[in-house]
Amino acid sequence: MSKTAKITILGCGGSGGTPLATNYWGACDPGEPKNRRTRASIAIRTARTCVVIDSGPDFRTQTLRENIENIDAVIYTHPHGDHVNGIDDLRYVAIKQRRVQENDNIRVPIYADEHTLSDLKTRFHYMFNESPDGVYIPLIVAHEIKDYESVTINNDLTLTSFVQIHGRGRSLGYRIGNVGYSTDTSDLDDKALNALKGIDTWIVDCGQYGTDTKELTVHANLELVLRWNKVIGASKIYLTHLTPRGDYATLNAETPDYIECAYDGLEIDVKLYPLT
Ligand SMILES: [Zn+2]
Ligand SMILES: [Zn+2]
Repeated sequence: MSKTAKITILGCGGSGGTPLATNYWGACDPGEPKNRRTRASIAIRTARTCVVIDSGPDFRTQTLRENIENIDAVIYTHPHGDHVNGIDDLRYVAIKQRRVQENDNIRVPIYADEHTLSDLKTRFHYMFNESPDGVYIPLIVAHEIKDYESVTINNDLTLTSFVQIHGRGRSLGYRIGNVGYSTDTSDLDDKALNALKGIDTWIVDCGQYGTDTKELTVHANLELVLRWNKVIGASKIYLTHLTPRGDYATLNAETPDYIECAYDGLEIDVKLYPLT
């Protein structure tokens, strides 16, 4: 029998969210609540474990909105600002755990690839080492994830990484049981597609929607998602990292029934391993 988990879409917006700062809605209908998008992130929850993928600038408001009161680990896709800039608020996750468990040694574990960790340690050095003025003490602890490696949190929830091409850089995607999470990708090679084979549900980047394919840069579009899914075979697809170009109703009308825009607060059921 397989265990289950629930994924909550904490945010499905592009790097600037929708609307952008300055209240720019683009093609999106401001009257449709599902067009109001915070920065891309998901929470995965079992009965006793909560893991969040990425801590972008909206991390605090996302955890408040979804009643997330404890986080066992944060797992990063890549170090772009829209995925990491809320890292300061992990301090309060650790401080609460220290208070509740009466243990002043607790640090929140974060997981990322080598490149992301070294970037985070430079930009957010005060999260890893005590600041010279003593105001910041280390409240997180870093763990490296190797490419295609699995990580199990709390002896309960397993995620397996795969490598995604993201423009001239890269990001990690994650497979969680029968669900795949592929934000921030512009190309997937055979190895990555193989890692996703057999999933039922795929949450995938469509941040390039609404621009000319020739301008494809760091994000995917519908054409690419459809092409990749010929190999992967997911029966349900949720589009994420959507920009103000991607209106909820318009995009849904343009896609087959099994493809839908994600929206903030959407919940997705997950079957964890062992799958039969
Ligand atoms: Zn992004
Ligand atoms: Zn990115």
